[in-house]
Amino acid sequence: MIPFLDLRAQYRIIGPQLEHAVLDAMRECNFVLGDKVADFEASFARYCGTGHAVALNSGTSALHLALLAAGIGPGDEVITVPTTFVATVAAILYTGATPVFVDVDPATWTMDPTRIAEKVTGRTKAVVPVHLHGRLADMTFICAAARRFDLVVIEDAAQAHGAERDGVRAGAFGDIGCFSFYPGKNLGACGEGGAVTTDRADLAAAVRSLRDWGQEGKYNHVRHGFNFRMDAVQGAVLGIKLGYLDGWNAQRRRIANLYNDGLFGDLGLPTGPFGLDHACHVYAVQVEERDRVRGLLADADVATNIHYPVPVHLQPAYSGLGYHAGDFPVSEALARHTLSLPLYPELADASVAKVIAALNEATAQPLARTA
Ligand SMILES: *Cc1c(COP(=O)(O)O)cnc(C)c1O
Repeated sequence: MIPFLDLRAQYRIIGPQLEHAVLDAMRECNFVLGDKVADFEASFARYCGTGHAVALNSGTSALHLALLAAGIGPGDEVITVPTTFVATVAAILYTGATPVFVDVDPATWTMDPTRIAEKVTGRTKAVVPVHLHGRLADMTFICAAARRFDLVVIEDAAQAHGAERDGVRAGAFGDIGCFSFYPGKNLGACGEGGAVTTDRADLAAAVRSLRDWGQEGKYNHVRHGFNFRMDAVQGAVLGIKLGYLDGWNAQRRRIANLYNDGLFGDLGLPTGPFGLDHACHVYAVQVEERDRVRGLLADADVATNIHYPVPVHLQPAYSGLGYHAGDFPVSEALARHTLSLPLYPELADASVAKVIAALNEATAQPLARTA
């Protein structure tokens, strides 16, 4: 069976190094924040090209605190996309603000920036583009629209560690960038983790305070804060793994390009070739008759996944936002047809070839007709 993701393959290579770093952190008994986390923050800020990075307990917390630090709250509107993981939208709702959706571009599957202006009202305070599957959203256009309407730009870079355009990396385009270090992400902890990156000292200081009970100085609680701190063990792990990220991303791009070159048949392929502006977190094709094709791939011992089967505006939990089927046709079509293929840096070329052959065979078969 070719798994969708194999975290053990990575652990087999760097496990001993991680175990050494974790033991070191354990023996220091400085279990929360501390030097290991501070060192990782400094390295990650340098990597992203921002003045500051603040480590947190998850990517969801990163989005939540980025919004709060930017002053977003009840009565405000925040523009984002329905083609994302629910956390993007949940974080906006945690602040009391209202998410306002714009559809994605059918070529890039990221925010269609030409649709921002029509959604801006007197209450709009921020825009949250999502670098879906690791592909940078059109940050030039989005930042220009944000300047025109005086909006804060908060990047959801949870899938895009290391993606760059013209020397600028994910997390450094907007006012503040949000990362997840969930184990399956391109840079993954041995548990939960997240961070924000920013050049703005005021935003970094606000997130630092909010993650630790709104303190400024011990027991001086100046904000209504949270316990969103990162563990020392995760800081130690991430500090080691960051050194491998560029190599892993290069492997991911190489595999994604092999897929793009090898696949044919009745498929919608993602726009390639994949360059530095795509961290290739997910490689997804679009297929008619997804269930049938998925079944044929499973029969050929190829595991697949769907990112995401239902766009956020049609999820039952968010029906209260008042959106309906048909509101975002590009997102809805993607949700119906998208199919993600195995992709991780250690995936062997022979396995890639097997996936390509299986998918080409599955999609070359005539579409099933009902009698
Ligand atoms: C993973 C992810 C998040 C949430 O990160 P967690 O660390 O799981 O809280 C947010 N947005 C996107 C786009 C993600 O992929």
